[in-house]
Amino acid sequence: MLLLDLLFPFRVEPHYSTLVEAADGSVLHAFLNQEDKWRLYTELSEISPTLRTTLIQKEDRWFYYHPGVNPLALGRAFFTNLSRHQRSSGASTITMQVVRLLEPRPRTYLSKGIEILRAFQLEAHYSKDEILQLYVNLVPYGSNIEGIKAASLLYFQKPPEVLSLAEVMALTIIPNRPNSLRPGKSNAYLQQERNRWLQRFKEEKLFDSQTITDAMAEPLTAKRVAAPRSAPHLSLRLKKEFPDTPILKTTLQRSRQATLEKLTYNYASRLKAMNIHNAAVLVINNRTMAVEAYVGSSDFNDNSDGGQVDGIRAVRSPGSTLKPLLYATAFDAGLLTPKSVLYDVPTNFQGFEPENFDQQFHGKVSVEFALANSLNVPAVQVLSELGPAALIEKLRKAEFRTIRKQSSKLGLSMILGGCGVTLEELTTLFASFANQGQFSKAYYLQQPEFHNPVSLLSEEATFLINQILTQPIRPDLPNNYAYTYRLPRIAWKTGTSFGKKDAWSIGYNAHYTVGVWIGNFSGEGVPELNGANIATPLLFEIFNSIDYNSTAQWFAQPPGLSHRNVCVETGRVPSAFCTHSVEDYYIPGVSSARSCEHKKRVWVDIRRRMSYCPYCLPETGAEQVFLPNDPPQLTQYYENRHISYEKIPPHNPACTRVLRNASALKITYPVEGSTYRLSRKDQTRLALTAQATSDTKTLYWYVNDALVSSTTPQQSVFCQPAAGKVKISCVDDQGRVQTVWVQVSYE
Ligand SMILES: [Zn+2]
Ligand SMILES: [Zn+2]
Repeated sequence: MLLLDLLFPFRVEPHYSTLVEAADGSVLHAFLNQEDKWRLYTELSEISPTLRTTLIQKEDRWFYYHPGVNPLALGRAFFTNLSRHQRSSGASTITMQVVRLLEPRPRTYLSKGIEILRAFQLEAHYSKDEILQLYVNLVPYGSNIEGIKAASLLYFQKPPEVLSLAEVMALTIIPNRPNSLRPGKSNAYLQQERNRWLQRFKEEKLFDSQTITDAMAEPLTAKRVAAPRSAPHLSLRLKKEFPDTPILKTTLQRSRQATLEKLTYNYASRLKAMNIHNAAVLVINNRTMAVEAYVGSSDFNDNSDGGQVDGIRAVRSPGSTLKPLLYATAFDAGLLTPKSVLYDVPTNFQGFEPENFDQQFHGKVSVEFALANSLNVPAVQVLSELGPAALIEKLRKAEFRTIRKQSSKLGLSMILGGCGVTLEELTTLFASFANQGQFSKAYYLQQPEFHNPVSLLSEEATFLINQILTQPIRPDLPNNYAYTYRLPRIAWKTGTSFGKKDAWSIGYNAHYTVGVWIGNFSGEGVPELNGANIATPLLFEIFNSIDYNSTAQWFAQPPGLSHRNVCVETGRVPSAFCTHSVEDYYIPGVSSARSCEHKKRVWVDIRRRMSYCPYCLPETGAEQVFLPNDPPQLTQYYENRHISYEKIPPHNPACTRVLRNASALKITYPVEGSTYRLSRKDQTRLALTAQATSDTKTLYWYVNDALVSSTTPQQSVFCQPAAGKVKISCVDDQGRVQTVWVQVSYE
């Protein structure tokens, strides 16, 4: 046998079609194999006792006893052939049929000889069950159907192991005459043949007689149906990733997948009138992190709008959807608590002046208001305090692949969508909010390996985010709000990318995290496109569908979280002058314990007409009072909007500090008389910085006598002056002026 193997190696490698199964083992999607045949892999466990008994009784009743060749039958066939009666097929054992299916040969005595040797070889290498398995995998059913599993699926829409005796019988006899016995074409004839064999089985007492009588009475209505085509995007993705695995067992829930495909299709159809053509949906089971539904686009068969593009893996701008992660990171850094006050006023972040979605500003706002309303300036302010690197580090931990690649180029605008993410990445990130801040990768294939979760955020910070994102009264509720009356309680965040190209809505409760993206694969923006009105209604529909009447408990408050009173003006621990306080959450040992500084001590005259500094403080007639300590961008905002606010009285006009203090205003950069070389290619710019007194709120910068910017003293200004001699002046809000002359050239 060894010699035979060496001289004539026998390869048994049939090409199977890829079959994609749902979590319950049912077929989601089937592909043709590379020979354009339906040859689905039948597992040993799918060969039921009924199928095995029927097959062996019909094809080769001594299968378990012969060595691959049945000498008795062979001898008989030999003599019948000699007497020219032409009935040689009956001599074939299942093993020899397998040999012929693997290596078809012309029907000659030589072929027969080779086939006998091959049969011995097969028997030496495989168990009887494996040979039987090969047989059911290879037996032809006519047309392009091969193997019992494909036949069972395409004719009876079920896997082989649940076929009835009548169905098994029909499938066992079709290969004898695949054309004349084809289901759907000649069912009456097929039924007649089926019952003829059943009758024989009855006489041979193969099954008990009642079972056979019932099988004979079973109507035969089989006809060929199209192969299942559910979850096309995930099926293609997995097939590409595992080209040699015949059966891909996914974690998808069959009926949920079907429901959401339909829901997404119907929903997206209604958006077409608005020139919105694509949608994608991902559902993750939070407890297991298994993906239960994967809708890559609203219509896979829509060729004109890129239906085959997988919207779950497409890299898009996240809009505002990273803000919850930002605030959670700031909670963990001790920087903020939910009632901390941020300033939603026009602010210049080194040349970057963010606006809000509604182009309005809201003045002083709490963190929870800023997040629930998705305000942009506060988010950029928090990111600038935290530093983009801290946020990028979190996103790296949460396996955001594009952001990892972009990280060196990302700045403050990333929190408003200036970076690339996928629906898969975002949905997985939000699932960690539902898992107490523990991040694990979502998965699609049933797998025994366990992924250790990574600690992304504290349980306390996640709980605070969950509370904020579940507030029922929010501006990003869809206009058509009737959806919500029976909605299970969920936390969610919407996002709209710059240019109205992407609408996001990602939601979660304890059970599920659902990610919805809506937009155009072409990248075309649409004025009506936004997360609240376009993506959120679909998110709500999905939650109503998958978790209606949910029994899920809401997230419990972690023991590491406490309450404290904070000043409403700043959200900080109240000082003696703070009169209004409000209860807030905080993380003891983490959250900042800094006292409120919403007021400062100022010397004023008794009628409060003017204020004094230590230089001009009179010996009598002055008193110390607490006055607002607002940051310059806030007072500027009040001034511009004509909003009344408590002002500090003007400084004593008789004060001589300005004269005495020569360094009251000083340009620190550029340096008087220096030469600066800038590059147009690299867009290098000249930085302008100055040192001012602590009560200076605004600096005005002039280049060659033209105003280029007004800023707070702490901020730098950048300019690209014309080449040559340049005059740079800085004027503060008290009228002090400083001027330097420099030489600028370009390379
Ligand atoms: Zn206060
Ligand atoms: Zn003074």
